[in-house]
Amino acid sequence: MAEKKWVYSFGDGKAEGAASMRDLLGGKGANLAEMSNIGLPVPPGFTITTEVCTAFYENDRNYPDGLKEQVEAALEQVGKAVGMSFGDPENPLLVSVRSGGRASMPGMMDTVLNLGLNDETAAGLAKRAGDERFAYDSYRRFISMYSDVVLGVEHHNFEEILEYYKEEQEYSLDTELSATDWQDVIHRYKERVEEELGRPFPQDVNEQLWGAVGAVFGSWRNRRAETYRRLHNIPESWGTAVNVQAMVFGNMGDTSATGVAFTRNPSTGEKALYGEFLVNAQGEDVVAGIRTPQSLTKKARLEGNDKLPSMEEAMPDAFAELSAVFERLERHYTDMQDVEFTVQEAKLWMLQTRSGKRTAKAALKIAVEMVGEGLIGEETAISRVDPASLDQLLHPTLDPDAPRDVLATGLPASPGAASGEIVFSSDEAAALRQAGKNVVLVRVETSPEDINGMHSAVAILTTRGGMTSHAAVVARGMGRPCVSGAGSIRIDYKSETFTAAGVTLKKGDIITVDGSTGQVLKGEIPTLQPELSGDFATLMSWADKHRRMEVRTNAETPHDAETARKFGAEGIGLCRTEHMFFEEDRIVAVRQMILADDAKGRRAALEKILPMQRDDFRQLFEIMHGLPVTIRLLDPPLHEFLPKGEAEIADFAKETGADAEKLARRLADLAETNPMLGHRGCRLGISYPEIYEMQARAIFEGALLAAAETGAAVTPEIMIPLVGMKAELDFLKERIVAVAVEVEKEKGAKLEYRIGTMIELPRAAIMAREIAESAEFFSFGTNDLTQTTYGISRDDAAHFMNDYMGKKIIAQDPFVSLDREGVGELVRLGAERGRETRPDIKLGICGEHGGDPASIAFCEEVGLTYVSCSPYRVPIARLAAAQSALAGAGNNTSGSGTA
Ligand code: PEP
Ligand code: MG
Repeated sequence: MAEKKWVYSFGDGKAEGAASMRDLLGGKGANLAEMSNIGLPVPPGFTITTEVCTAFYENDRNYPDGLKEQVEAALEQVGKAVGMSFGDPENPLLVSVRSGGRASMPGMMDTVLNLGLNDETAAGLAKRAGDERFAYDSYRRFISMYSDVVLGVEHHNFEEILEYYKEEQEYSLDTELSATDWQDVIHRYKERVEEELGRPFPQDVNEQLWGAVGAVFGSWRNRRAETYRRLHNIPESWGTAVNVQAMVFGNMGDTSATGVAFTRNPSTGEKALYGEFLVNAQGEDVVAGIRTPQSLTKKARLEGNDKLPSMEEAMPDAFAELSAVFERLERHYTDMQDVEFTVQEAKLWMLQTRSGKRTAKAALKIAVEMVGEGLIGEETAISRVDPASLDQLLHPTLDPDAPRDVLATGLPASPGAASGEIVFSSDEAAALRQAGKNVVLVRVETSPEDINGMHSAVAILTTRGGMTSHAAVVARGMGRPCVSGAGSIRIDYKSETFTAAGVTLKKGDIITVDGSTGQVLKGEIPTLQPELSGDFATLMSWADKHRRMEVRTNAETPHDAETARKFGAEGIGLCRTEHMFFEEDRIVAVRQMILADDAKGRRAALEKILPMQRDDFRQLFEIMHGLPVTIRLLDPPLHEFLPKGEAEIADFAKETGADAEKLARRLADLAETNPMLGHRGCRLGISYPEIYEMQARAIFEGALLAAAETGAAVTPEIMIPLVGMKAELDFLKERIVAVAVEVEKEKGAKLEYRIGTMIELPRAAIMAREIAESAEFFSFGTNDLTQTTYGISRDDAAHFMNDYMGKKIIAQDPFVSLDREGVGELVRLGAERGRETRPDIKLGICGEHGGDPASIAFCEEVGLTYVSCSPYRVPIARLAAAQSALAGAGNNTSGSGTA
């Protein structure tokens, strides 16, 4: 049987590997092979495969048979290609040894340069190159690097020696050291290694080579690498490859250099070479930041006000070749590349290429421009932008050049940045807003009562609560910047002050909240507005062309609805009517309704609310101009609307003339042990049908008014929450239909409408076949469905979810990203059973998951008609829906087509 191939050679315009062999050769090795194959100048070398790594660990840290011979043969071939020989004192071949897995992985042994140097070969190199200084500079670099990463003698040992030597000799720069100086330093380095290890620095070049190879494989299982793998879901079985490559030298005088570059600007996306280089240096000098690197282009030098010449000016020929290589690489890989290169005595060598990391802004620009250049198609462009990253682009950001005075850092709960006067109460926020002021609402935490204040504020800051706290969820929904859980801030409500970082600020002082970073800053900081036209609009139009699912929004105010339309929402998937009940002009009537003794009293109070609700709905219908609008009838337990605490109760009693004692009694009646599982959702409608009847009437009348105003047909979708039994829905449906008949008769008009339900309870998903007999649509309320499936309170989960994730019990918060196996299975079941009864049933999702790209991919798989999410997530959902449609996730469902 032929011996297994463990080693793949590259260089000299050809290679045994290719880019497609990433799994076997690792990213770096595969790309070195690819660059060789397309004829780019790559120093010759070879890759020891990832399979060796696996075999090494399977075989008790022993190398597989045949490896040694294959490495020796490959090394000899490399020597032949460059006319040198490994370990030859006359004409020594030096190599670099670098790790390189399928995914780049910090924490692993990275690079050893100049391997193959010892006392003899260093002298030979000096003679051969006619440059003693270069040879001993290389040797000292090798000793410190090898000792650090292979022998475990830490880098600071060598830094100390060098610093001390420079002080002794009164040098300030490394470049001032002569060949003899470096020889002295080398002597001291070797002494230190021997002191630390009890044995001398290895002089045998083969021992050096296998030491470095062993260090790469050994580092695959060090603690840092293991942690990184766990966090990024990289399987242990992947292993790493090792790349051994002939050294080229950027430190051979002023016609030599080394550099790193991106083929386009990774922060703006601009099509211009971007990067830096250092003359007479080796790779680690660029990374270490000891010397200040120079610009690649003249333009960049002028913009950066650099004194030193750019590569374009200092090495015009090598620069021209580099530019041509970049063009070539981009055309070949059809993506922006991040490269490393070296110039040795005016000759360019390519050492690495890979797809470059980029900001959201750059990703967008590059994707769109590459389509224009004919490098990629629209579908590829869509796949190149991470939907979640769009969030960075949709909100105002702080001017990066403005000075910042950071008071505290909390959680980046809702992105965007805004400045305003500090206020500590929601009422005050609303009042000041009325007076035209910009305010930042500062609270320990927020509750549903604060909705109004939050809406009035330009930003929200809380000192308690996590990413799914009330403040965080509501702020994200409203698109207000929010920092939550800024625990180092101490609020004193009494004196209306807060203290942070030793500074006390009072009501009316100006602060800035940066919800994208979690920073709270003193004073006003200028912001930059998002750019929604141009590349953004172009990519979005492509996404719209390629997606199957509709994207709707969760919105209940005209402002949110307008924002969502601007972001491309195709209707409202969830209007939570309770938010309307908190508005100042109706909360009193709402409370009177709740406190009424009987249906008659309730109806009287509801009469007062009706015109306001009608107007709410009319506005939403008008803004949506014929697009579907799903309105959910009242959902939360009634006590949420009532005053809390003695003072508030007394105030309310005084204001309304209610009997304080009776009020307290009613409050006690309404108290529940488990309100989330209590008297809420459709259960309210069943106890008090007049509430839902009023809401239905407001919807129908609002729809007729809007239709008359806009001329666009309005088909409201009335949604009943928290249904678990078909009978619940039937009871309510009958009453809503009766209201419709009444309204039609009164107005002499014909109403088009649908009645459907939320699927928020496991029982509803299981009984979907029966429920679909009455429901014309389903909307999966995955917030409650997650809560009820796991039996974990969505309001209290934050307290222990981090423990669960920290202890690896679950990988992800199921309230943020849909739990496919559990909750998702209920969604799938509900969708399938619903369609069995009613094949054309409209299916949507309106929990927080509707704006999460991974959950959206799941929705595509089960064939939902639409996803609905908060306004600022609409673009994210449009892109994510397109990506999942293109990924073909929807191909294997029996699902409904486009609605
Ligand atoms: C849900 O439960 O997923 C939902 C959208 O309703 P709410 O968040 O208002 O309970
Ligand atoms: Mg719900």
